[in-house]
Amino acid sequence: FFYGDSPAVYPTPGMDENGTWGDAMSKAKVLVDQMTLEEKVNLTGGVTSETGCSGFIPGVERLGFPGLCLADAGQGVRSTDYVSSWPSGIHVGASWNKELARQRAHFIGSEAKVKGVNVLLGPCVGPVGRVVSGGRNWEGFSVDPYLSGGLVYETVSGIQGAGVMTSTKHFIGQEQETHRIPSSSGDYVEAVSSNIDDKAMHELYLWPFYDAVRAGTGSVMCSLQRLNNSYACGNSKSLNGLLKGELGFQGWVVSDWNAQHGGVSTALAGLDVAMPNSDGFWGEYLVEAVNNGSVTESHLDNMATRILTSWYQLKQDQSGFPKPGYGMPLNLKLPHNVVDARNKSAKSTLFDGAVEGHVLVKNTGSSLPLDSSKMKLISLFGYSAKAPNQNNYEDPAGDASFSAWPMGAESGNLEELNVGFFGNLSHSYASISPNGTLVSGGGSGSTAQNLISAPYDALVAQAHEDGTALFWDFESGNPSVNPTSDACIVIGNTWATEGYDRPSLRDDFTDGLIQTVADQCANTIVVFHNAGARMVDTFIDHPNVTAVIFAHFPGQESGKALISILYGQSNPSGKLPYTVAKNESDYGALLKADMTLATDRYQKFPQSEFDEGVFIDYKHFDSLNITPRYEFGFGLSYTTFGYADLEVVKTDVQTQVYPTGDVVEGGQEDLWDVVAHVTVKVSNTGDRDGKEIAQLYVGIPGDDVPAKQLRGYEKSLIAVGETISVDFPLTRRDLSVWDVAAQIWKLQAGEYQLFVGSSSRDLPLKGTLTL
Ligand code: BGC
Repeated sequence: FFYGDSPAVYPTPGMDENGTWGDAMSKAKVLVDQMTLEEKVNLTGGVTSETGCSGFIPGVERLGFPGLCLADAGQGVRSTDYVSSWPSGIHVGASWNKELARQRAHFIGSEAKVKGVNVLLGPCVGPVGRVVSGGRNWEGFSVDPYLSGGLVYETVSGIQGAGVMTSTKHFIGQEQETHRIPSSSGDYVEAVSSNIDDKAMHELYLWPFYDAVRAGTGSVMCSLQRLNNSYACGNSKSLNGLLKGELGFQGWVVSDWNAQHGGVSTALAGLDVAMPNSDGFWGEYLVEAVNNGSVTESHLDNMATRILTSWYQLKQDQSGFPKPGYGMPLNLKLPHNVVDARNKSAKSTLFDGAVEGHVLVKNTGSSLPLDSSKMKLISLFGYSAKAPNQNNYEDPAGDASFSAWPMGAESGNLEELNVGFFGNLSHSYASISPNGTLVSGGGSGSTAQNLISAPYDALVAQAHEDGTALFWDFESGNPSVNPTSDACIVIGNTWATEGYDRPSLRDDFTDGLIQTVADQCANTIVVFHNAGARMVDTFIDHPNVTAVIFAHFPGQESGKALISILYGQSNPSGKLPYTVAKNESDYGALLKADMTLATDRYQKFPQSEFDEGVFIDYKHFDSLNITPRYEFGFGLSYTTFGYADLEVVKTDVQTQVYPTGDVVEGGQEDLWDVVAHVTVKVSNTGDRDGKEIAQLYVGIPGDDVPAKQLRGYEKSLIAVGETISVDFPLTRRDLSVWDVAAQIWKLQAGEYQLFVGSSSRDLPLKGTLTL
């Protein structure tokens, strides 16, 4: 009865011969027609290669197809040398900057191409971040699907514009690391089942995938866990139905590593490539399945054609694309060719990207920016201020002391592993990384080995210029502080990694350190390199805590970016892409992952009920009327902004209730028609030039609908005294709800509430739109 939870959707949809992929598809068909059965099957699984690629699809040399190198991804090309270390997904989310996201993606794609990487295994828009302590939330952009959707569109476009395929992941519903894979230690326990209803699926989890498919993502990676009790990589409803059907996806589906749990069943459900290899289920068995008719040859042709279509679509067949894995040595410690993929013109994007993901949330008495001419002595504390002792090959910025990333125990719970695995660390807090500054989280989304500008090093350079004396202590939780310090900076972190959920959203060691310093220093500035929400309520009202910055994971330019903000060379412009609560308990059941208990009826089939529907993060806080510490969309600047003149103009697009257009990549064509424009005026009313992120929230009429949902954001540089006009186009999708009965998006008759301002709770402009 478990497997009946997910509807059966067969067969896999064909491809669109007349769409934008039509030419590439014709070429792919010609190639597939010349292949033997075995050659076609070989395309559908990974092989061990002599490269450092995470996965490798073998070539068919006699037909000129060289194979494909698949590599991670999230913060630039991972596990290699001579590439840049980019800001993480959550950092891009905190910048809310679409243009910058596109530039970053362009450079990541360009670096991947030089390295001979055909497919980048990202961007990540799942997990969405439903579970606040989720271990991989930082790999994605935001808990808000609209914010995430805009940024994934730019990221896919930027990477693919540089000639490299994206594999947008993880499809779909992998919202916790606990039980993400089956566990065979002791009794066999299946991976957790994310039980998601059709409405939440469309309005929340699927939403950013629409944008990724619309941008033309060549590949999509299906996730490790079960969805409505059927493994996500063998789930015909999600793969055949949602992705290849409703979203009109023309590319190929690759399994997450070892996420394939069936042979014929996964092929028919819409999986095209098994990684890291197909030994267990496909390979010779798929040949046999085609021979005995369990899988038709035309279905196999569809799988092979999808893979090769994206290869042609991205023009990787043309000269100029390096040999797959060309610059990805298997072992960086052995002699190898230097393939330097870095690009001098990427410098400002790396730096701006690092700056714009910093979010200033407290600044009393104008503690910041620091006046360099007045800084005689600065004291610096905390383990995240200095460079790590080593940036090793495995997980360079995750945490070098965890050099062996513990894949083996990954379905476990971090708390249980604390003693065995983390017990050797001085502070024994698995939620922090005491080894050194964090510019990335851990696991497959972590950054490559490269230089790291640590806060301490950048501060030394500044202090040197200014003649400022420095005092520092990176170790003690109870330091004594020189009371004449002009400023005391405490830099902590919250660590997270693939494979585990975070044990807590705060830790005693760091909170104690902040308290101790603040008791002795009148101007205490707190900075966190954080993987997601981090509680601040044990110290936030301390009168000496004058400023707080959430610095996220900035990549290699971390320290330079932070110092530039602290001294006002850059004006902070990030805003929170999630909600910071006053208490962990304010997040309710979504604070922690679902665990199985020995008493559970479904102990061997862990279940996670997504009962809250779309009400996660700010929608949860709004619906229960809980005041957060810092709301979604909040962030301070060194200047101030004013909002005025909200206007609403309907376009002449037909506003029939349902879309009627054909399905193209990204769903029905007219889902994307602009139904109305909202315009406002934003002025810089302070005394510094700065960037503001104007935000539009919409209250859709109807029952059981969030009071407001983000439906527009624009980041603009506004000079002192300047007023600009901001335009928010509203598409049919933006204004629709998913009609479960009719299985289609639907506009609502009635009055839509419109709110515009600088955060989800600072919305001075109001208006209405009637449809
Ligand atoms: C991760 C994927 C990653 C893959 C290859 C898996 O464990 O879940 O996100 O792309 O490994 O490294």
